[in-house]
Amino acid sequence: MSERKRILSGMRATSPKLHIGNYEGALRRWVELQNEGCEMFCMVADWHALTTLEGEPMDIRRNSLEVAKDFVAGGLDPAKSAIFIQSDVKEHAELHLLFSMVVGVGKLERNPTYKDMVSALSKSTLVSYGLLGYPVLQASDILLYKPYGVPVGKDQAPHLELSREIGRAFNSRYGEVFPEFKDLIDKDESRSKLPGLDADENGKLRKMSKSYGNCLYLNETEDETAARIKSAFTTPSKMRKTDPGIPEGCAVCQYLKLYSPDWEKQWAEDVAGERGCFQSKKELTEALNEFLRPMRERRAELDDDAILAILKDGADKAREVAQKTMDEVRAAMKLA
Ligand code: ATP
Ligand code: MG
Repeated sequence: MSERKRILSGMRATSPKLHIGNYEGALRRWVELQNEGCEMFCMVADWHALTTLEGEPMDIRRNSLEVAKDFVAGGLDPAKSAIFIQSDVKEHAELHLLFSMVVGVGKLERNPTYKDMVSALSKSTLVSYGLLGYPVLQASDILLYKPYGVPVGKDQAPHLELSREIGRAFNSRYGEVFPEFKDLIDKDESRSKLPGLDADENGKLRKMSKSYGNCLYLNETEDETAARIKSAFTTPSKMRKTDPGIPEGCAVCQYLKLYSPDWEKQWAEDVAGERGCFQSKKELTEALNEFLRPMRERRAELDDDAILAILKDGADKAREVAQKTMDEVRAAMKLA
């Protein structure tokens, strides 16, 4: 029996590019856990990218390959961690179907993320059965691997709770198949809930999200990163350099905290009206590009053939665990 702690986590293939929120909230932690010797299963969730059918159909396979490249560039070592695409391991779909029999529709309809997503959709967009069932698929993704823990950003906390409830509902009806898992969410919200470049209608920072497009991406040129930082939201009442800033509500100051060794001095000057936003943006650009440079260099060396081989190997490893769990599930449900 393996003594290693097993870890499962994933990212949606909704864009070919991961952003620094995905890195700080999840990927950074995955790399740490990998290096601590955990047994890692790192998934590109392609089926999850289909839950809303807004706009033109996207090239999900292309997105998946690019996301997997970001995983490796960000520090995952395919020799230590299984990196795979969700739809390459069909057991996720089978468990999703079986779990859909033990979860109440009311519980899914009350899910706050579902309500938010529906209200964010344009009136003409189909609210799909798949969108309502999103947490059921996520529960399958997780529980198939019976993980010790799931490292994710703070936005995922309600979904993890739902996954745990689905596991408990299954266990109480069919017997103990799924052990409880831990949320591994960074307590430091500046990492687990990293703000985006823009603000909401109330002038408050909102989460950086692939689907909002308010991102600083891991894999862009230094000039592209500089241009994005130029457009970043800062303290709205700070019109002149001498106006006091409010670093807690300023995206640029939040990023400085993570990437600049001098952030405490920079924040103090911002509050005292001793520095302008232009200077902060310039310094952030330098610090962030320096931080991302090694990842960008690693990524430039990865081609499609290399990533396809990594994903095949990862899917084989994931399937081995997934098939074992499904044998137990079918036996518990008297399907086999
Ligand atoms: P989408 O808009 O398509 O949902 P996303 O940017 O929210 O994309 P996901 O693929 O949903 O990214 O999430 C991948 C992982 O990154 C999850 O663990 C999630 O909690 C984490 N994450 C996403 N955005 C942030 C953020 N702004 N700060 C910290 N963690 C984040
Ligand atoms: Mg998301």
